Amino acid sequence: MNKKTLLIHGGQTTDPYTGAVTTPIYQTSTYEQDEIGALRQGYEYSRSANPTRTSLESVIASLEHGTHGFAFGSGMAAMSAVIMLLNQGDHIIVGSDVYGGTYRVMTKVFNRYGITFDFVNTTRIENIEAHIQENTKMVFIETPSNPLLRVTDIQAVSQLAKQHGLLTVVDNTFMTPYYQTPLTLGADIVVHSATKYLGGHSDVVAGLVVVQDEKLAERVGFIQNATGGILGPQDSYLLVRGIKTLGLRLDQIERNTLAIVEMLKQHKAVVKVYHPSLEDHLNADVHRRQSEGMPGVVSFEVQDAETAKKLVTQTQYFTLAESLGAVESLISVPSLMTHASIPADVRAKEGIADGLVRLSLGIEDTEDLVNDLENALNATLSK
Ligand SMILES: *Cc1c(COP(=O)(O)O)cnc(C)c1O
Repeated sequence: MNKKTLLIHGGQTTDPYTGAVTTPIYQTSTYEQDEIGALRQGYEYSRSANPTRTSLESVIASLEHGTHGFAFGSGMAAMSAVIMLLNQGDHIIVGSDVYGGTYRVMTKVFNRYGITFDFVNTTRIENIEAHIQENTKMVFIETPSNPLLRVTDIQAVSQLAKQHGLLTVVDNTFMTPYYQTPLTLGADIVVHSATKYLGGHSDVVAGLVVVQDEKLAERVGFIQNATGGILGPQDSYLLVRGIKTLGLRLDQIERNTLAIVEMLKQHKAVVKVYHPSLEDHLNADVHRRQSEGMPGVVSFEVQDAETAKKLVTQTQYFTLAESLGAVESLISVPSLMTHASIPADVRAKEGIADGLVRLSLGIEDTEDLVNDLENALNATLSK
């Protein structure tokens, strides 16, 4: 099955009871047993399993070329479930520019349970190798990362991790399985904030985990049921629905992104552009090798924070907001918004300039978006 067909038919069956082509929203917490322990279709209680959630879990498993999917109430619940695979005393190597919430849950919650972390620049495999300790159990990466689109080699990381008996976890939120399937590159676990591209319409918060190993599936399933951070049937339905148009949306988002990058490269008000479609972007070749498309997030620097502040008030179609991955185009200034809590000197060391602007492209008309941003940039040049 090719990608666009997989999005519609992968892991999907018609409803076994009615033939409904769309899995209904099974808004139920419990299920009748014919006699004690005799379950009709394996359903007993909806924390353990619910048919609408099963439909979503089987779609994402199929898209990621995994065997088992697990749906959670948010991306953070999904990430947390994965970290819960570890024990007290275990150590994780984490990308230094992982999503802020991932950093926070590791350093403010799981640290209290005796799990330790090293945050390293994973764009160079030697940095990971240098931090492997006797108690290291997991490598957690995100590629391309946020907001500078740093690219990490999934295959190289997975290979190194395997040699040392470590699990490789990839947060695949930015690329989605339409463009990148980490399990086929050797990773053990894929996690998603499905709130972003998979849902795609800014109307649901959800997280997903996919694995391809029976034993690992059993462990993740146990944690999902035991800790209970599951996704409800209504939101599961919305995600299955969103995923059907993922390919159409990402095609348009990619067109928009490449046109915007082209304009930014030439604009006088722009100091630097960060995007893996650019030849001189670090590890651009790695991105092309491991992904079939380009991320819909672009970052660029203008002169300073004041200019960035002015710019974001001048756009008409780019909405000033955090988050990413939906049908509407968004614009934000990391130093003043998503990354404001990081001290200025740490931000500078990480390469997040005060004048850095981040875009998440939506599916609007390409020309409208390019003109809108170009006009807004022009306005920053006039006194
Ligand atoms: C948004 C995001 C998360 C967190 O997901 P939520 O659904 O907001 O809990 C994790 N990783 C990445 C890359 C994200 O963009």
